[in-house]
Amino acid sequence: MESSQSLQSLDTVVQDIIGLDTRYRLADGRSTRRHYLDSAASTLALGCARQVADALLAHYANIHSTLHFSARIASHAYAWAHEQVLHFVQADPARYTVVLAGSGCTALINRLARRASRQRARDVVLVSLMEHHANDLPHRQCAATVVPIPLHGDAPALGTVNLTALERLLERYAGRVRYVAVTAASNVTGIRNPIYDIAALAHAHGAWVLVDAAQALAHAPFAVSDTGAMERELDAVVFSGHKLYAPGAPGAAVIRRDCLAQSEPDELGGGMVDDVSLTGYRISAQFPDREEAGTPNLLGAVQLGAALNVLRRVGMGRIHQAEQQRVRQLLSGLQAIPGVRIYGDCALERTPRLGVVSFNVAGLEHGLVAAVLNDYHNVAVRSGCFCAHPYVRELLKPELWALALDPDAPDAEALLQPWRGMVRASIGLYTTPADIAALVAGIDDVRSRPEHYRALYRVDAAGQFSHQSFQAPARDLFDPEAALDRVLAQRNGTNAVL
Ligand code: PMP
Repeated sequence: MESSQSLQSLDTVVQDIIGLDTRYRLADGRSTRRHYLDSAASTLALGCARQVADALLAHYANIHSTLHFSARIASHAYAWAHEQVLHFVQADPARYTVVLAGSGCTALINRLARRASRQRARDVVLVSLMEHHANDLPHRQCAATVVPIPLHGDAPALGTVNLTALERLLERYAGRVRYVAVTAASNVTGIRNPIYDIAALAHAHGAWVLVDAAQALAHAPFAVSDTGAMERELDAVVFSGHKLYAPGAPGAAVIRRDCLAQSEPDELGGGMVDDVSLTGYRISAQFPDREEAGTPNLLGAVQLGAALNVLRRVGMGRIHQAEQQRVRQLLSGLQAIPGVRIYGDCALERTPRLGVVSFNVAGLEHGLVAAVLNDYHNVAVRSGCFCAHPYVRELLKPELWALALDPDAPDAEALLQPWRGMVRASIGLYTTPADIAALVAGIDDVRSRPEHYRALYRVDAAGQFSHQSFQAPARDLFDPEAALDRVLAQRNGTNAVL
């Protein structure tokens, strides 16, 4: 079809992002544009993808039927969304399926971990040290033994997964490894793992590989195989639609059909059975239906399909190239600030990274830095351990030890709290040099007068900093009920508040 081949320029897509000119009033009274550097948590929304979902509302109906016009349209749109996902990661639809569920990849990793736990003879799961809790805790719950895979290098300059160490683990647990769980890119450092080499090693030992692509898919070209060789193919890839410019979209798992075909899904209900009697039921052989019990998130799925389609039209190679420029800018900007420590190996030629950079400023609590960046510079970053506690701990160990406090000692908790964490800046396709310059200027400001800022904030037991006098409660910034009032007032043809 002609329309699906029309290219999109990156600039046009950036102009279509919702929320790039959002302004907030700051603690010093100025009102400025927000610099959104929290894309690793959730990206901003692509307007056209949202519009496609909104357009579908005129035909809205449940799927699982082709009888009436609207059900036919809804079922087709839902199938289209699945096709977009498979196409995006170059997965052969005859061999792979897509399962959409939940509000992110967490739900799917939990499902896959439970499903794989039926292979009782293989009771070990190898999990890299740099995983988000979502790609760690479900495996701990479902496998008898979970073993961390070490990384290259030493803290704070840890690198990628160490393939030699992985091979040793696969040999040590020969015949017992169920799968290797690894992230394509870390949500703390942005470091990219050699996932196809990992797949080849896992497969040589009869294990599967589960790749968490939550931080990778929106920022670099991605395929289920790099060479087409089956031994390098990824068995399962999971990701979250809300990190792909489609807030409200479900999580997705692209998975080899034969990994699922032999076992019964553990979520049962409507839409996935061919026949049910009082004494039994027959599960559909159809993918993805058999894996998606119940009514799906149709609108979110279509929004995701549209976002992926647009990214493909721009070209993930172009997006990656543009973002890599920002990554280099971000790294060099931070490296030029005295006292800033960046975590993870920063040599990009040795350790490739996507656009996530975590750092600390010597002598300053991460929570204070993040709060000042927000309140005085309108720079939205995140601070803490980013749901990757084991990795963050490992990266921080030299510093925590320099504080002469053992991070594992129970009484060290309260004293360590403000220091156990980092500030994270992360980018999307809309990030500009001005956003990065604002971050760098903000850090420079807070490090140049730490006592001035410290006096303005109080810190709670959890290490959270809050301004003594400037509050800006969420309701004053955006009140859903007031927004509803405005919509209703417009509908009624009046500006009066109801
Ligand atoms: N894995 C990684 C690498 C992530 O960054 C995140 C989200 N921060 C998750 C998994 C979990 O994703 P979600 O919360 O969308 O389920």
